[in-house]
Parts: sequence; C-alpha cells; structure tokens
Amino acid sequence: MASLPPLREVIAAHGLRASKALGQNFLLDEQLLDRIAAVPGSLAGERVFEVGPGPGGLTRALLRAGAQVTAVERDARCLPALAELSAAFPGKLHVIEDDALRVDPVAACGGPAHIVANLPYNVGTALLVGWLESDAWPPWWKSATLMFQAEVAERIVAKPGTDAYGRLAVLAQWRCDVRIAMKVHRSAFTPPPKVMSAIVHLVPAAAPEGVDVRVLGRITAAAFGQRRKMLRQSPKGVPGAIDALASLGIDESRRAETLSVADYVGLARLLDGRAG
Ligand code: SAM
Repeated sequence: MASLPPLREVIAAHGLRASKALGQNFLLDEQLLDRIAAVPGSLAGERVFEVGPGPGGLTRALLRAGAQVTAVERDARCLPALAELSAAFPGKLHVIEDDALRVDPVAACGGPAHIVANLPYNVGTALLVGWLESDAWPPWWKSATLMFQAEVAERIVAKPGTDAYGRLAVLAQWRCDVRIAMKVHRSAFTPPPKVMSAIVHLVPAAAPEGVDVRVLGRITAAAFGQRRKMLRQSPKGVPGAIDALASLGIDESRRAETLSVADYVGLARLLDGRAG
C-alpha cells in the first residue's frame, strides 16, 4: 500500500482553498471515505468513474479498494495533488481536466464502470438525470454511489403520497433499485455545508420497462407541474392523457403524487407515439 500524506497536508501544500462556486466541500476522514468506497461492493479490478475528485480523498479510497479510476475534475488547482496520487498508484488513475457535463464517460472509461462521486451540488442532479436518461439500457454504468444534499437524496428514493415524490423519484425508480446507503453529517465536510447530506446507491434494474424515457418525462412534467391539482387539470400538453387514465382505471380526480411508478410507466406505454 502506498503511503500518502494526510489530506489536510495535501490541501495546505497545494493551496486548495475551497471554492463555493465549484461546490467544494471536501471529505477528509479516511474511514468515512473507505466506507463510501465500499458501498458498491468489491471494486477490486473494477472500473470507476469519479466526478470531482478535488484533493483526492475519495479517489484514494477507491484506489485502495483496487479500482481502476477515471476522474473528471474541473478545477485545475487540484491537478498537481491528483498527479501525486497517480504516481502512488501507477497506471490506476486517469485524470481528465474538464466539466463533467461535457465529458463522454463511455469513451473516458473504456468500458462498463461504477460511478462513485461526492458530487458538486450545483451539477449533481443534472448529471444523475443524464445518466438515468441514457438511451441504451442497461446503461454504461453498473451502479452509482452518489453524495447528494439530504433533501435531493430523499427526492430520489421517495414513495408515492409523500411531498418528496416527483419526477426524479419516478425516473430513478423506473430504471433503478435505489436506496439511501448512509447519511452524512454536515460536520464531516471541510468546510461544512449548510445542509445535511446522504449517499444514494442506484443499481440499474435488470428488467427495464420498455417505454420511451422522453414520453415518461413529458407525462411526469405535466402531472407534477401542477402537483396540487387533480390529474384531469394537468395533462394539457399530453394529448390522449385523459383517455389513457380511464383505460388504466386511474381516477382523474387523483393528484400526481398518488400515482405509483408503475402507473406512470403504464401511462407512458399507452401514450407512446401520441405524447410527442
Ligand atoms: N471528491 C472530493 C471529496 O470528496 O473531498 C471533492 C468533492 S467536492 C463536493 C466537488 C468537486 O467537484 C470539487 O473538487 C469541484 O472542483 C468539482 N467540480 C465542480 N463542478 C464540476 C464539474 N462541472 N465537472 C467536474 N468537476 C466539478
């Protein structure tokens, strides 16, 4: 095992003052980082795609677990620290300096990979939605272990009938098994963010539902766009929605948040070809 300086020293040596604009809240507790790296199961010999390695705390834990890591970091200040990590684990870490929203992860990783990331809060949801809306399913990623603000994590795993249930829950739970793997107190970060965080673990479902993700997206956008109203008032942008509700036996006086993921998938299947 390579011996590395403590993360605090790495941050001091490279002058990595946390940038709020880049959503930088670093994790320095090696035990916590090892626990996060263990969430996807054994990573020995597995490819991992990491977004935002920063000073490399989580990256180290992934390398210690035996992963082959491709990491995308936007902040050039972090690159020297990551180069030291690359040198300590020869051939195991490939760092790309770029905006993760613009990187093609399939080309970057060179094959199926686990996503593990302490995500920058400002782009975390956009990245997840992009990964969930992949045209190919099962997708290029084998699992995703992602840090979110606790409130966003709750929206991903929310069940019908709750305030947190909405478009993100339907999209995520349609295609994945989802769970909150651990809650992370704000004090675990340097600097601490204002809110609590949680790690969500998503595994692409073995038997994906055969509906068009865009149709499902349009239906949930129309329904949850007016979540306090009855369904009959919401589907204006979705021709045929009232008939589809009737043929599925769903009372049109119900509200969007009372329908299950399976109900939305059923609607998308009936409306496919008409909702465009
Ligand atoms: N992984 C480190 C850790 O756990 O301590 C840092 C996590 S910090 C919450 C988020 C990281 O994402 C920062 O290093 C930040 O520079 C980087 N970042 C922010 N926006 C990004 C983007 N669009 N693409 C790639 N990296 C980004």
